[in-house]
Amino acid sequence: MIRHAYATVPYYTRLFDDVGITPDDIHTREDVSLIPITTKEALQALPLEERLMRGVDRAQCIERRTSGSTGRPFTIILSRDEKEGQDIVQARAMLENGMRLTDRRVVFVAPWQIPKRRYWFQQFGVWRKTYLSVFDDIRDQFSAIERANPHCFSGTPAVLRLLAYEQRERKSPHVAPRTLFSAADLLDQSTRQLLTSVFDVEVIDLYGSLEFGYIAWECERHAGYHINVEQILLEVCDDGTPVSDGEIGDAICTSLHSYTMPLIRYRLGDLCALDSRSCPCGRTLPLMKLIAGRANDAVTLPNGRMLTPQALADSMVEFGEIIQQFRIVQERTNYIRIELVKGPRFNDETLAAIRTMLRGLLGDDIEVQTELVECIDPDPSGKQKAIVSHVHSS
Ligand SMILES: [Zn+2]
Repeated sequence: MIRHAYATVPYYTRLFDDVGITPDDIHTREDVSLIPITTKEALQALPLEERLMRGVDRAQCIERRTSGSTGRPFTIILSRDEKEGQDIVQARAMLENGMRLTDRRVVFVAPWQIPKRRYWFQQFGVWRKTYLSVFDDIRDQFSAIERANPHCFSGTPAVLRLLAYEQRERKSPHVAPRTLFSAADLLDQSTRQLLTSVFDVEVIDLYGSLEFGYIAWECERHAGYHINVEQILLEVCDDGTPVSDGEIGDAICTSLHSYTMPLIRYRLGDLCALDSRSCPCGRTLPLMKLIAGRANDAVTLPNGRMLTPQALADSMVEFGEIIQQFRIVQERTNYIRIELVKGPRFNDETLAAIRTMLRGLLGDDIEVQTELVECIDPDPSGKQKAIVSHVHSS
């Protein structure tokens, strides 16, 4: 991949030349860290052909677009074979977690993520999917969901959470999944507990990105995330240098098969840690220890302490029955606003209790304001972040 990228992609030719290395300098896994990190911002600033393999026929390719939460569009181009490779590792994660080939699945995605082409075998009842938009109200979609009578749901934690609330009210016999898959956003403890209590199945979290497809996945033991090492090389780095196993750092990813648009040492913007222990399930794909949420969304407190989005979201677990949905927005270092949608057991003391809990966690020098809202809409990318920080740490 490194030879290919250097020989055929203008961006990588320049990147290697600029630091004075050639593919001949890369022999071992350790040598990979000689290659500079690439960020999304660096690629976004380039004309598309600078980061594409020379001579690609784009008419034969699949384009994956995101509006991005920053509002700047980003396009990934891949061949049909490359897309199939990504679909296969996704299918493995789901089949290993109890899904069957003939299961009916309801998939919640952004409308532009609904594929125009279906695989030929889908018309024979294999890998059947019903796509629903994350932008539509779950209450309006409920009869469509019941008609689909799915064995499986997959979607963002936010949409699964709304589905669970609706099902708790309606108790429909046609909304009884055997498997549940969460993806594309931080899955917090309170959402896990809610889903288990309503559907009586454990949710399985899949970790992926627009750029790479699925990167890692949970198994039934929930001991971490098994990394799809046939598809990607995952490094965990601090400032471009790999950290020891177990230490938290930046997820840096290299695709092993994306020849159309190579991605080498690409910074995903997520925090994670490699775990050298083997999983109690016996599967030998290596483990990644945790996903603490987008690095950019970590909340930096006035005293300089940093809280991961995971820690903050998990602190809301005790309000799982009281609050249907929440979004914590750090507007300034010392000012946090929390938007809340009432749950069934909401009462007069709830708001004060949440403020007290957050002050205990964040410290007294931070102002916490609560705000009741009717609903919390997904951001333009279709994701629904529970934690947003407008304070940028260096
Ligand atoms: Zn396992």
